[in-house]
Amino acid sequence: MSDLTFLAVHAHPDDEATSTGGLYRLLAEQGVRTVLVTCTNGECGDDPEGAKPDAEHHDADLVAAVRAQELDRAVEVLGIDRLVRLGYRDSGMMGWPQNSDPESFWATPVADAAARLAEILIAERPQVVMTYNEIGFYGHPDHIQANRITLAALQLIDYQPTLYYNAIPDSVMEIMRARWDEEGRRRAKHDAAKGIVREPEGPPMIDGEPLNMGTPDEMISATIDVSSVTDAKYDALAAHASQIGDSFWMKMSKEEFRQAMGTEWFVRVTNPRGLEGDVTDIFAGYRN
Ligand SMILES: [Zn+2]
Repeated sequence: MSDLTFLAVHAHPDDEATSTGGLYRLLAEQGVRTVLVTCTNGECGDDPEGAKPDAEHHDADLVAAVRAQELDRAVEVLGIDRLVRLGYRDSGMMGWPQNSDPESFWATPVADAAARLAEILIAERPQVVMTYNEIGFYGHPDHIQANRITLAALQLIDYQPTLYYNAIPDSVMEIMRARWDEEGRRRAKHDAAKGIVREPEGPPMIDGEPLNMGTPDEMISATIDVSSVTDAKYDALAAHASQIGDSFWMKMSKEEFRQAMGTEWFVRVTNPRGLEGDVTDIFAGYRN
């Protein structure tokens, strides 16, 4: 039995599968204890009929209930040992009215949520912690807040774990962007045939600038081969059917998915073990 523990701080149900699904399952198979902290209930997701959160009949509490069950299923598929739901309300995208809901994660004082997270860290003592970078990877307030509470919580504990942010190398982002553009064109054509004209969705913006979600390849400091567990990652994504049932991932066969999704990347932020370069094991420095 290993005494290694991994803990990730994620914003919404489904984020654990998209950015760390392979890693979670891989670590579970290695006998590493895995903990997932999910900050919000995901109320701003699509409802079971596909309605968006600004639709009049969108039922936020129903969405949260559906997503809670989906998360349970994904946790089972990924072999996660402990799930902690912090239970904040989804803040929606930047500028949405949900940002200012006092129960939203974004409106919650960082110190309050950090204190709760610190309690979990103290109880679990993970050697490796993962969350998102300062821009929340893609500018979503709940992802930014996950970064802030994690950094604050690490100041409240009596040791320094190795902290990683999830990342996509620029070279891979370029390929993914081409695929999304292609998908966008296909959808626009499909909609046009039905007489629907939709504004093309541009890249996410932050402070008026298009957001670069990629990380320069040379800054990647953990490249994890998860190709042996992509079936589980696929199934974990599929468990979140209400959100990503229609996504490009789910249109791939499992073989295509293995080819495309067999690697997960991270950037090291704290480095108490004095690691150098790009490691292939997220517990590098901790294995006997
Ligand atoms: Zn999210």
